[in-house]
Amino acid sequence: MKYIFVTGGVVSSLGKGLAAASIGTLLEHRGLTTLMQKFDPYLNVDPGTMSPYQHGEVYVLDDGAETDLDLGHYERFTSGVLSRMNNLTSGQVFDSVIKKERRGEYLGKTVQFIPHVTDEIKSRMHQVTVDNPDTDVLITEIGGTVGDMEGLLFIEALRQFALEVGKENVCFIHVTLLPYIKAAGEVKTKPTQQSVAKLRELGIQPDIIICRTEADLDEDNRKKIAMFCNVERKNVVAFRDVAHTIYECPLDLRRDKIDRLVVDKLGLGHTPSPALEEWEKFVQRVIHPKHKVTIAVAGKYIELQDAYKSIYESLIHAGAHHDTKVQIVRVEAEAIEDHGAKAVIGDVDGILVPGGFGDRGIEGKILASKYARENKIPYLGICLGMQIATIEYARNICGLKDANSTEFNKNTKYPVICLQEEQKGVEDMGATMRLGSCESILFTGTKAADLYDNVDRIHERHRHRYELNSDYQDRLQEAGLVISSVSAEEGLVEIIELPNHPFYLGAQFHPEFQSKPNHPHPLFSGFVAAALTRSQL
Ligand code: GLN
Repeated sequence: MKYIFVTGGVVSSLGKGLAAASIGTLLEHRGLTTLMQKFDPYLNVDPGTMSPYQHGEVYVLDDGAETDLDLGHYERFTSGVLSRMNNLTSGQVFDSVIKKERRGEYLGKTVQFIPHVTDEIKSRMHQVTVDNPDTDVLITEIGGTVGDMEGLLFIEALRQFALEVGKENVCFIHVTLLPYIKAAGEVKTKPTQQSVAKLRELGIQPDIIICRTEADLDEDNRKKIAMFCNVERKNVVAFRDVAHTIYECPLDLRRDKIDRLVVDKLGLGHTPSPALEEWEKFVQRVIHPKHKVTIAVAGKYIELQDAYKSIYESLIHAGAHHDTKVQIVRVEAEAIEDHGAKAVIGDVDGILVPGGFGDRGIEGKILASKYARENKIPYLGICLGMQIATIEYARNICGLKDANSTEFNKNTKYPVICLQEEQKGVEDMGATMRLGSCESILFTGTKAADLYDNVDRIHERHRHRYELNSDYQDRLQEAGLVISSVSAEEGLVEIIELPNHPFYLGAQFHPEFQSKPNHPHPLFSGFVAAALTRSQL
C-alpha cells in the first residue's frame, strides 16, 4: 500500500478536507483504489458528544461510528465506504493506551508519549493496511494546524511510520494559505515558508505544497515557495477559491496535475489520466441549471454553515439530477412559532425538517409540517422530521390532543413517539442510540417503494433514540397515514407517507449520509422533483 498524509498550515478552515477528498477523486478516476481517513487531535473519543456549534454535523457511517464531517466529504468524493477504523481521535488513542496500562500490557514499563502513544497511532495505520489489502493508496488527513501542541504526537507518529514503510511509499502533502494583502496588492508567501519550516523542524519534508489562494499563483511566487520550502517548482500546487461549488475542487487541483505528481512520487507506474467527464458534467449541471426551486430547511442550528452539511449536499446532488438549482432558505424553527408558517415559509416549493435533539423549536417544526400537509407543499422529514410529522398527524387528524414525543413531554397523554423500552414497559430509561445501517422492508404500492425502484429491502443509516410507538400504529393508519417501510428485525417504523399529497414523506433514518454527486438519494431526488413540479404549476 502507498500512503498520502495531508497536513495543514497557517490557519484552519483552509479546505484541507476538500483537498484530501479531491485527491481521492482524482486518483480514483485514474483507476486506483483509494481509502480515506481522518486523524483528529481533540480529546473527545468521537464527535458524537459534541455540540453542532463546536464541530458541525456528526457524520454517521454504516457501522454506526459517529465521525467528523470530513468523512462525509470523503464518502461523497470517492466510492469508498468508510468504517470506524477511518476516524482516529486523540481521545481514542489515549483511551486505548490507558486501558492497556491498566491491564498490565506494558509489563511494568513507564508508559510514555514516545513510544507508547505514537506506537498506538502507528498500530492503527498498520491495522487499516491489513484490513484493506486491495487498497492502492490510503489518504490520511490530519486535523488541526501544524504547530498546534495537540497535533504533535500525530506528526511524530507519521514521521516514524514513513521510516518504517519506506519513504518511497509515502507522500506528504502540506496545505497552506497564501494571504492576499489588499493594501500592498500582493500575495504573501511568508506564512507558507514558516509553516513548512515548522513541519521540517518536526522531521517532515513535504513532497507537495498545496497553496490556497484567492487569486492565482504566479510563477514568481511558485519559484519562491519552491526555493524556500525545498520542493520542486512543479510540486507547488495552486488551490484557488472555487466560484460555484465544492465539486469544482478536484478540477481545480487537476490544473496543476496534483494526481500526476502523487503517482510519480509514489512510483505507482503508468495510470491513465483521470476520466473526469462524468464529474465535469455533474459540475456543469450544478453551475448552469435550467430550473430553480426554493426549499425551506426548518431547523435549530440553522445559522451554522456546517450543522446540516450532508442535507445541503444531498439537495445539490438531487438538484443537479433534475437540472435544477435548489435555493435553500434556512429557517429558524422558532421563527415559525413567533410569526406563523405562512409568513415564514409561505412561498417555498418544498419544506424539509431535519434531524435534531431537544425541544427548542419543536412546535415551530410541527407548524411547518402541518402547513406542508394542508397546502400540499412537498415535505421531507428526516429522523426528528419524521417524528414531527407523526406528532402533527396524531394531533390534528387523529384528534389526539397534545400528542407528543416523550423526548419533549415525558407525561404526554398520547406518546406517539417514545423510547422502545417504554413500549416494552422497561423501567430503565437509559436507552442508547440506534446507530448505523440497518435493513428495512419496503411495502409495495407505496410512494417510497416507487422511489426506491421497487426493491424489497433497503439499508439506511440511523442515529436516534426514539421510535414511532407501535401502540399507535393502527390508529394512525386508520386515519390515513401510510407506513411504507419497517425495520427487518424489530418491525420499527422506518418510513411514513401520505397518499393524496404530491410528496409528504418522513424517514426515521438519515438518507443524507448515502447521497453522492452522480447518485442522488432516491428520497431527495423524489422530493426535489416534487418541488420542481410545484414550482412550475
Ligand atoms: N431526537 C430524536 C431521537 O433521538 C431524533 C434524532 C435525530 O433526528 N437524529 O429519536
